[in-house]
Amino acid sequence: MKDIRSCNAEEMKQIVLSYGEKPFRGKQLMEWVHGKQAETFDEMSNLSEKLREKLKEDYIISGMKIIEKQISKKKDTAKYLFSLSDGNVIESVWMKYRHGNSVCISSQAGCRMGCTFCASTLTGLTRNLTAGEMLSQIYEIQRETGERVSNIIVMGMGEPLDNYDNLVKFVRLVSEENGLHISQRSITVSTCGLVDKIRDLMEEQLQITLAISLHAPNDDIRRQTMPVANTYSMDDIFKVCREYFAKTGRRITFEYSMIRGVNDKKEHALELAKRCRGLNCHINLIPLNEVKERDCLRSTAEDIDRFKIILENNRINVTIRREMGSDIDAACGQLRKKYIERTDN
Ligand code: SAH
Repeated sequence: MKDIRSCNAEEMKQIVLSYGEKPFRGKQLMEWVHGKQAETFDEMSNLSEKLREKLKEDYIISGMKIIEKQISKKKDTAKYLFSLSDGNVIESVWMKYRHGNSVCISSQAGCRMGCTFCASTLTGLTRNLTAGEMLSQIYEIQRETGERVSNIIVMGMGEPLDNYDNLVKFVRLVSEENGLHISQRSITVSTCGLVDKIRDLMEEQLQITLAISLHAPNDDIRRQTMPVANTYSMDDIFKVCREYFAKTGRRITFEYSMIRGVNDKKEHALELAKRCRGLNCHINLIPLNEVKERDCLRSTAEDIDRFKIILENNRINVTIRREMGSDIDAACGQLRKKYIERTDN
């Protein structure tokens, strides 16, 4: 059974045509699925019963259920654990800012990239999410909070570019006029640096912000924590970043999680600054969220500040990520991991 929430306007038109219906029924279907975010075919009252029955035979609506919700003490962050239609669980995070609400969504159940500090990858990759399942995380959170989402970050569980086609489809669907109509400029996609896929993404003419998880100033250190560094070198990454900027005009963000004694020394900051020279980029320093199964520790606040100052002195744009929700298992995959452990026992 295919997921109707993964279909766009053109596909819906083709679906109704294949059932012998008029093209405008496709528009009505689109309005139900992505406009009103219908959860059943039965509520699509202006479609004939015959058409609804046909749809039911061939399609599902990829809804998901909230099985757990944690709210931070300051009430500005909520973490959701969702159960998918096949019983898999994923997590998403809602963050309230003065300028609007952001949702951080998952792109896969699990992950196969194997970064040594990350909880998402502990149980490997279970499966890719469909475009509809990426959308459903936002639909459900909007419904539950009663508030509109204005920014999306694809930085939850999973490697979005390892689920490339569904990711691109999701970006187009969520920014469609008939859907949530969220500007692509308000969407950030974070990747561990799958260089070939970044090159493909460049050709899609999307307006999204690309964030690359760098977490190291050189290949030796990067290979200690990120297996993907054995496939793509820092030179490969910086080369593709320059191409990406030349092609799209979009500034790249680098994420740099600060791990004590591993990547947080003065010489690392200088080496990173040298690498970034001349590239229009922004570095986001992330105080590591310590994960119990991983032995990586968070850099001290002093070391993080020193690192930032060295970058600034070298005229690199840099910010330290504001910590939200550290009291609610905010690091990728932590909540899901706990849930799986509980249900396994
Ligand atoms: N696979 C994508 C997106 C997933 S995670 C990627 O690698 O970019 C989003 C960001 O959080 C990544 O930069 C990731 O490396 C980082 N991250 C994962 N676990 C973390 C932890 N425990 N503490 C701090 N950052 C973490």
